[in-house]
Amino acid sequence: MNNYIVILAAGKSKRFHNKIAKEFYIYKNKEMIDHSIEKSLNSKLFKKIIVVSNNPNRLKKKGYPKLVKIIKGGKERSDSSLNALRYIKKFKPNNVLIHDAARPNFSINLLRNLINKLKKNKAVIPYILPTDSIKYKSQGQLFNLNRDKTLLAQTPQAFKFKDLYNLSLKKNETITDESTLFIENDYKIFFIKGENKNKKITYLDDVKIHKTTFGIGFDIHKLKKNKTLYLGGTKIPFHSGLQGHSDGDVILHAITDAILGAIQKKDIGTYFPSNKNQYKNIRSPKMLKPIIENLYKNNFSINNLDINLICEKPKVSKYRNKIIKSVSNLLNLDKKRINLKGKTVEKLGLIGKEKAIACEVITSITNYD
Ligand code: ZN
Repeated sequence: MNNYIVILAAGKSKRFHNKIAKEFYIYKNKEMIDHSIEKSLNSKLFKKIIVVSNNPNRLKKKGYPKLVKIIKGGKERSDSSLNALRYIKKFKPNNVLIHDAARPNFSINLLRNLINKLKKNKAVIPYILPTDSIKYKSQGQLFNLNRDKTLLAQTPQAFKFKDLYNLSLKKNETITDESTLFIENDYKIFFIKGENKNKKITYLDDVKIHKTTFGIGFDIHKLKKNKTLYLGGTKIPFHSGLQGHSDGDVILHAITDAILGAIQKKDIGTYFPSNKNQYKNIRSPKMLKPIIENLYKNNFSINNLDINLICEKPKVSKYRNKIIKSVSNLLNLDKKRINLKGKTVEKLGLIGKEKAIACEVITSITNYD
């Protein structure tokens, strides 16, 4: 094992538009650069891990193990990479991997695979296939590139140290990756399948976290003989129906409150006060509708609903599919995201004596803005 890895983190993050340099941006609970450093350490494949940064002092304070060496970056990417190659030359390395800290999502398996393939090759590069159509512009003319013959090169890229070092010394133009040097000098490159998740983080949008929140709702209504029973917006055959200012649909009321809770918009009574005559005998789907429309219009998405219907009768198992289908239609939400559980109360209290039905709902909602 005579492998070294260079992690480049000296870019200017110009397209990232954030006050924090990209490598120090908190991504998946740690500074972005730490993903690459920790994976390199955990792989146990490297004698040294060289991190090239414009802010070496900040990194040195982080107390990495001794085999992590922090050095100062150069003006261009290729200067930074050459600084690192010059530093490791004295250890007489066989293999060197060059990696961009802006790709925190590679796997340790990819590192192993790259080093393995270096036994018979001078350069091993991971690639993925483009999914967009590609046009090439040259001297005012446009050309279509055949997507099936186009490769997108990723990092880490693996090289025999000697070859990369020699090519780096004689290069004289700006490059965006080290494999460019090999291609321009007609060296053979061995391509291996890269990883789709190993995307380069370039824009702040690439790391934007969509906020997920939870909401809880509870409702209870008295049962009254010879009234229609509505549960989840659908009629259920029963000797009694629920009494209330509206149709008393405990499931829809609890769902509405859970949704309003998740988006911090108070409760159903705020929008449909029970002292207002205009809402007397209103059907609950009518109350839910504007709230749902507003929810989707503002780019929220419901991840799931978990519903506990608390009653002695009717038996939930008998009407589960019917209720879920109705709720799914009203919320424009896939049935798979809705769970309905029946819960009896051992014949205790008003609910046990079939004088009332209660419902509680919990929901998780994500904002995709
Ligand atoms: Zn209610």
